[in-house]
Amino acid sequence: MAEKTTEQLLESVGAVRHGHFVLSSGRHSGTYVQCALVLAHPEHAEALGRALAERLRGTRIDAVISLALGGLILGQEVARALGVRAMFVERDAGGKMALRRGFHLDPDERILVVEDVWTTGKSTREGWEVVETEGGRVVALAALVDRSGGAIDWKVPAAALVEIAIPSYEEKECPLCRAGSVAVRPGSRFKEAKK
Ligand code: ZN
Repeated sequence: MAEKTTEQLLESVGAVRHGHFVLSSGRHSGTYVQCALVLAHPEHAEALGRALAERLRGTRIDAVISLALGGLILGQEVARALGVRAMFVERDAGGKMALRRGFHLDPDERILVVEDVWTTGKSTREGWEVVETEGGRVVALAALVDRSGGAIDWKVPAAALVEIAIPSYEEKECPLCRAGSVAVRPGSRFKEAKK
């Protein structure tokens, strides 16, 4: 699937939103990509998962760990295409990322970490840490959208189907806040936006 096609697909289902948002990283932005709207279509989810698996064909992957909630469906579909099992990490009551539900990694198991959107890459790095703590080895990373426009230096093979540089800001530097509008949280963490 060509990059343009994925971008057009996101547009066609209304997944690219414009306004004033608090991203899951806490940063503010005028654009938000709601991947759930495209993954709601199983045939699109399957095709996107296949396309990501194809991009990572040169890397041997034993299992997929996705970041809940945003990465779950995509991770499942990438794992389906790769023929490996799909697990996930999630935040516990204290907000700390953890491998739960009896999921278990074999020593040095080669793991692909899947997230829906990379903004700063912080969540993926947290998931990466959990994998290493659990004895696995992160050998590749994947996302549907790379909002950094390819600016993150991952140091392992990393694939995103859409690379777009969308500006985001710390709250105190946000020009939209300065203009008087109030940011809304489109929802990937459970915290509500302050104010
Ligand atoms: Zn703002």
